[in-house]
Amino acid sequence: MNPETHLKTKILIVGKGVSGLLLSYLLEKKGIECILLNKEVTASATILAETIPPSTLSLLKDIDMLTLFEKCATKTYGYQSIWNGIFKNEDFFSHNPFKYGLKLNKRKVIFELEKKVASRIINYNQLKNITSKTSEVTTIIKSNNTKYVIESSLIIDATGRNRAVLNSLNTPIISHDNNIAFIGYLPKTKTSLKYGFFTETFENGWGTISDLNETTRIMTLYSSKNDAFHKKLKVFSNWDEILINTQVLKKHLPPGDFKVIGRLANSSIPQKIVGKNWLSVGDAAMAFDPISSHGISNAIYCAIKASNSINDFITKNNLTSFNKYQETIIKIFNQYYQIKERLYS
Ligand SMILES: Cc1cc2nc3c(=O)[nH]c(=O)nc-3n(C[C@H](O)[C@H](O)[C@H](O)COP(=O)(O)OP(=O)(O)OC[C@H]3O[C@@H](n4cnc5c(N)ncnc54)[C@H](O)[C@@H]3O)c2cc1C
Repeated sequence: MNPETHLKTKILIVGKGVSGLLLSYLLEKKGIECILLNKEVTASATILAETIPPSTLSLLKDIDMLTLFEKCATKTYGYQSIWNGIFKNEDFFSHNPFKYGLKLNKRKVIFELEKKVASRIINYNQLKNITSKTSEVTTIIKSNNTKYVIESSLIIDATGRNRAVLNSLNTPIISHDNNIAFIGYLPKTKTSLKYGFFTETFENGWGTISDLNETTRIMTLYSSKNDAFHKKLKVFSNWDEILINTQVLKKHLPPGDFKVIGRLANSSIPQKIVGKNWLSVGDAAMAFDPISSHGISNAIYCAIKASNSINDFITKNNLTSFNKYQETIIKIFNQYYQIKERLYS
């Protein structure tokens, strides 16, 4: 018979991305015990040079995380773009108090955050069941040969766009579009890249080129799954033709054939962000189009706000702060979506 382990904790966090790890760190600082569950999925293995804007650095400073994030990033001073043939230069020098943003190596940050988190991390293979009753949640997982039965007061979905907890609890997801990203890791061409980041539109979508390290750049092309054209983006040898009318992106295409990795990049939000004994954070709570460059900022913001709401829930035993958290998330998502729509139109 397989061994069965029973565990009890106040908070069970599912997902070991920036939002899940940061939340467990902040809860521990408040003296709230948690267990963090993680299931490795291929989507998390992608290394992206993710941009954090100057405005988010103040958030990191407030929670004493700026040094850790800076250790896993290079500073960036802006970006350039061409939208509908119009060239734009956005530099960060006029932003206060930080006059720079960060180009983050997410894998490195996760490694560093993990060292800071004392809570028990359990890697598992299979999520068997989540049962939510009024006062507690029972989660059953399988890790190799061991079956874990974990009882918690709250369960947190931090599984990104996978939304493993929300799906188990049958929470519907509202997806606003079907955007999809195709990523290629390319050797640097001789064409230089001011600020290490450029965005440009092409006929059926838009793309970015971004410095990853001394030798590699990441080119990502975005389109919609609704458009049959997206299938062409899967094959690197088509990129020459797709980018033929671009001014900058085409200059960064090196000769040769390269692997292309597809990732979901849609804007989506669950019908409910919180429940009686569950709450969602990061991409699980609201997923932004990468055009916003605010996915990591959202993960950080949600972790801070959720840690305060959870603290209130535990000390005051009421759901008011959960409802406020939900209202804030919905408000931010609506604002973001209006801006995004304007940009696309
Ligand atoms: C192409 C692309 C470019 C992007 N560029 C930027 C950018 O420039 N700037 C920016 O700020 N953001 C960017 N983002 C978005 C950013 O990466 C995410 O918003 C952010 O990482 C979300 O963090 P998270 O912790 O919520 O989720 P994730 O990082 O998705 O972490 C989720 C974690 O949950 C785990 N998991 C998944 N399923 C399960 C399960 N069933 N059980 C347990 N664990 C599970 C995963 O392994 C992972 O560790 C980009 C995204 C894409 C796709």
